[in-house]
Amino acid sequence: MKKGAANHEYSFFGNVERYFDKAAAHTQYPKGLLDQIKACNSVYQMRFPIKIGDRVEVIEAYRVQHSQHKVPCKGGIRYSLGVNQDEVMALASLMTYKCAIVDVPFGGAKGGIKIDPKKYTEDQLERITRRYTVELMKKGFIGPGIDVPAPDYGTGEREMSWILDTYVAFNPGQVEAYGCVTGKPVSQGGVRGRKEATGRGVFFGIRELCNVPEDMKALGLTIGIEGKRVVVQGLGNVGYHSALFFWEAGATIVGLAEIDCALYNAKGLDLNDVMKYKAEHGSLLTYPNAKVFKNAGACLEFDCDILVPAALENVITGENAPRVKAKIIAEGANGPVTPDAEEILLKKGCYIIPDMYLNAGGVTVSYFEWLKNLSHVRFGRMDKRFTENSNLKFVSTIERITGQKITDGEREGLTHGPDEVDLVNSGLEETMISAFHDIRRVLKGSKKIKDHRTAAFVVSINKVAGAYMSLGIWP
Ligand code: NAD
Repeated sequence: MKKGAANHEYSFFGNVERYFDKAAAHTQYPKGLLDQIKACNSVYQMRFPIKIGDRVEVIEAYRVQHSQHKVPCKGGIRYSLGVNQDEVMALASLMTYKCAIVDVPFGGAKGGIKIDPKKYTEDQLERITRRYTVELMKKGFIGPGIDVPAPDYGTGEREMSWILDTYVAFNPGQVEAYGCVTGKPVSQGGVRGRKEATGRGVFFGIRELCNVPEDMKALGLTIGIEGKRVVVQGLGNVGYHSALFFWEAGATIVGLAEIDCALYNAKGLDLNDVMKYKAEHGSLLTYPNAKVFKNAGACLEFDCDILVPAALENVITGENAPRVKAKIIAEGANGPVTPDAEEILLKKGCYIIPDMYLNAGGVTVSYFEWLKNLSHVRFGRMDKRFTENSNLKFVSTIERITGQKITDGEREGLTHGPDEVDLVNSGLEETMISAFHDIRRVLKGSKKIKDHRTAAFVVSINKVAGAYMSLGIWP
């Protein structure tokens, strides 16, 4: 398998369908409705030429809109050699289920360009991205009310800026144009907190699980995040930020892995030191403060409490699942566990907190960004000062009545009015906590549903089916 390419011995879309069918068996919807929910509505496979040096390269790319039961459609764009139609369809369908779980009013979509972005100069990548955007526009596959891309594996703020700039250039005067893509830099209509959002959401979801005494008892773990032994695979956007929030909350990061190697230190790794070393040396292969494994996949078998696969799909399979020691698998990546692996892991008593819920923090905050773009106003701008003044009056009244003075630090904490990032993080926290309990309620409320993924799919199917039924086609 090429480095950075997904394991395509497994049909990723086939896996998502298997998970869907398993959950659908616990619902009463007619087959036609379930078939419609499952199907990918629009699949756009494209080829376009790009001049690279003195030759022309034909680029293979995709955009899939899985469902328009709510519009716009929403989903990231991936740059990887592993991109193919099956993968993009799977990722688009997961987006539908994900948006439904966290009550983000979008249908699912996903895009991908089959390239290794490391092999191109910045200028070449810009031309590929802009041409891809134009191809999407030509077929009506992008627009603030149609389909709104975001970052995914191999892309980030830079690519989103190019997409925005291209779209705006072709749509002058369109007042909502900035809502055509999310994950933009703040200077170009992005929202504070989006970059960290997926990792922060992973942390919130697992923290919620670790605060349930019944579940921790079942797993033989103590309550809370502190002291939990965590392993993270992939130090990109999702992996790095997940590791950071676990680390800041007092977890011990015993293992980390990048594409070329894995690190293990039972006493704990210093995340800042690891990231600094990676930035300075370009690789962790010679990192001195840990045992280094040249096989990056070794991290999946490290002894730990929480394993966060945050790289690519199909990494935990029927082959390696028997050797996985983690008690909790926190799916930061999309589709890291195959159905065969899941069967084995569930039998071992492992909790798998599924991608479609756990990594939904990214799309949740993308939704906030889109709302910001449509409203043309920064969150907190209208009420921050008003809240601070009201709080100050309240605190001063209490001081006057009690005759007690509080410290300046206490005053600042009590009177602080929310900035944009406070509101975004709080909206994200609320979303992840409520969705966790929605899933848990279904899990605990049924004797037949035995795992979090099936419960999450049931929550999602109920919501999407409800939206389709309101169209009047189904009774
Ligand atoms: P990214 O490109 O920022 O980072 C991925 C990292 O994984 C890279 O550093 C890469 O070198 C590393 N990697 C690749 N193969 C590896 C391997 N075998 N072992 C260890 N490391 C490996 O991508 P990302 O945005 O963090 O996305 C990661 C996963 O999270 C994907 O499945 C993506 O679909 C999912 N996801 C991303 C977001 C988001 O907001 N970016 C949201 C939801 C889900």
